[in-house]
Amino acid sequence: MELPEEYLRNFVEEYAAVTGRGIIHHLEQLAKPLKGIKVVHVNSSREGGGVSEILQKLVPFQQALGLDARWEVMTGDAPFYQCTKSIHNALQGSSIDISEDLLDDYRRANRENAERLGTLLEEADFVFIHDPQPAALIEHFPLRRGKWVWRCHIDVSHPHKPVWKFLQNWVARYDASIFSLPEFAQPLPHPLYIIPPGIDPLSEKNRDLPAEEVAGIIPLFGLDPNLPVVLQVSRFDRFKDPLGVIEAYRLARKLTPLQLVLAGGSAGDDPEGEAVLAEVRRHVEEDPHIHVLLLPPSAHRTINALQRAADIVLQKSLREGFGLTVAEAMWKGKPVIGGDTGGIRLQVVDHYTGFLVRTPDGAALRIRYLLHRRDRLSEMGERARRFTLENYLLTRHLREYLALMVSLVHGSRGRIEVAG
Ligand code: UDP
Repeated sequence: MELPEEYLRNFVEEYAAVTGRGIIHHLEQLAKPLKGIKVVHVNSSREGGGVSEILQKLVPFQQALGLDARWEVMTGDAPFYQCTKSIHNALQGSSIDISEDLLDDYRRANRENAERLGTLLEEADFVFIHDPQPAALIEHFPLRRGKWVWRCHIDVSHPHKPVWKFLQNWVARYDASIFSLPEFAQPLPHPLYIIPPGIDPLSEKNRDLPAEEVAGIIPLFGLDPNLPVVLQVSRFDRFKDPLGVIEAYRLARKLTPLQLVLAGGSAGDDPEGEAVLAEVRRHVEEDPHIHVLLLPPSAHRTINALQRAADIVLQKSLREGFGLTVAEAMWKGKPVIGGDTGGIRLQVVDHYTGFLVRTPDGAALRIRYLLHRRDRLSEMGERARRFTLENYLLTRHLREYLALMVSLVHGSRGRIEVAG
């Protein structure tokens, strides 16, 4: 899709207003040797979940910098998504054995998508394959022209071995892989890059909102205007530990009045959401101070307003590739109490931008501390915002993608000239 030149210029200028011109200038320099290059990103869902959130802006930004970038989404049926959800859970450490029939569904969906995407992938200069779902596409492109990079967004630090072996068959054929943290990297016969993602400060999810819109969220969802709000935004997924969040809330509430909001929806490629939501509802047990909000995937502004209206944001995950919700909350000046795992550890600097916790008791203790020490809550929130500005915005993420592409294209030369 061709975007009008003026739109692209304004697009870049808007980011300059947030990050400063220097950062944008740097991106433009890095993009110069990549002008016109054909880049295709492939993932398995257009909306819902972190990967689609990232691609929604990474791709237009690459276009704005002159790359011929596009985003394709895999199609699949229910058995395929059942299989890929099991692969996802197993790679994050659950000991699940997947039946041969389901693995065949995985191979079949990849073959069908390879036929559909055909020449587009064969002729691209760069193909970025996100996560395990489309990883097997590579097998169907023996004549591929460009570099193929597997971008892993999940925590594969302790994968269930048989499932990793199954996937490794394909991953090993790529020209490079990207992981979000060094601990996630697996032994592979190609260069490994460590690139954590970042959030888009200008999206509907993250841009500033009028104060009335933020305040309006309280009556909209029937929240109590006199109680502090503790929020977790997540897909209904066991690794996000929604039951642990409810337990933490109950422990904190014994001594400190508060209300809990669990806001979530489902992702198109996640078949387990309904079962987890039902478990959550059973645990809520009619508590009028727990609000479970089931939001459509387009509810970005609503999530933005909820994150701004919250006093504290939780992300008590048991495993987390990165956790965009953490950066989203920090960008809005909220301290985050997060599970001591994966990408949350990168973002939450313990006792400085928030707290890292391992148990519901730990989370309850930190919730009570922050609600009683409002001065510390504001200080941590302010540091969280600065830390995100400096480290976890889309512009830094994009810079590392561009640097990776430049290095893969020109890697054999001793010196790569990007200035001028
Ligand atoms: N999100 C959303 N609606 C929901 C739940 C999550 O828009 O009901 C968004 C959330 O704001 C974040 C992304 O989906 O931008 C989730 O990314 P994260 O890395 O936190 O987790 P993932 O879902 O990829 O495991």
